[in-house]
Amino acid sequence: MADFTFSGYAALLDRFAELDYEVVDFESVAPEASHLILRHDIDLSVEAALPMAKLEAERGLAASYFVQIRSPLYNAFAAPALDALRCMTSLGHTIGLHFDAALYGAAPAELDRAAARECETLEAMLGRSVPMISFHRPAPALQGREGRIAGRMHAYEPRFFREIGYCSDSRGAWRHGHPLDHAAVVKGKALQLLIHPLWWITPPGTPAAKLDRWFETRLAALDRDLAGNVGVHQPGRCRMEWSDT
Ligand SMILES: [Zn+2]
Repeated sequence: MADFTFSGYAALLDRFAELDYEVVDFESVAPEASHLILRHDIDLSVEAALPMAKLEAERGLAASYFVQIRSPLYNAFAAPALDALRCMTSLGHTIGLHFDAALYGAAPAELDRAAARECETLEAMLGRSVPMISFHRPAPALQGREGRIAGRMHAYEPRFFREIGYCSDSRGAWRHGHPLDHAAVVKGKALQLLIHPLWWITPPGTPAAKLDRWFETRLAALDRDLAGNVGVHQPGRCRMEWSDT
């Protein structure tokens, strides 16, 4: 099954299972074991990540979903997004903060304060603790950074990033090789797999076509919400929904 499709994601999970990989959380990973960390960074749509979370739960797998609260592209606290996040936690997944450090000064104390404030805001909205952080588009200084941020683990600590395998689908491609071909996986050792749900939930196509799909779906939601809020707006310009995929 082709990668970067919904069925392709199911096939990839099944292939890891055939290789006797166990999906574990960050705290439990052992470098020498056939352990797989499933990490999802939500850059474009919380709702688009929910089918991935359901697919994993059907297989008895628990992943970590990292969500931004200051994204210019989606509102994590709008009702459909917050409902989706709560559904993910009810399925056994962990919600972490996807933190854009570029919004703040580089001084460690300032970053720490900002990350704490964002985690506490997310915790208040979710009604549960947010135990982990992943950086959005991390600067080189943050990749492999030792120690905690705001008292919490982060996904680029050396033990999760350098001391085990690491593979990402950034920009809709396996730019550093396919995860099943990763040196760690070939040896049966631990891997952190970073997935961006939008690349997998959209119909097959180029990354640009997948972003077009996101844009059209976003526009449809704006159209619907605007009509619901402002009576003079005539809805119907665009009716596309994620359920159309
Ligand atoms: Zn990101």
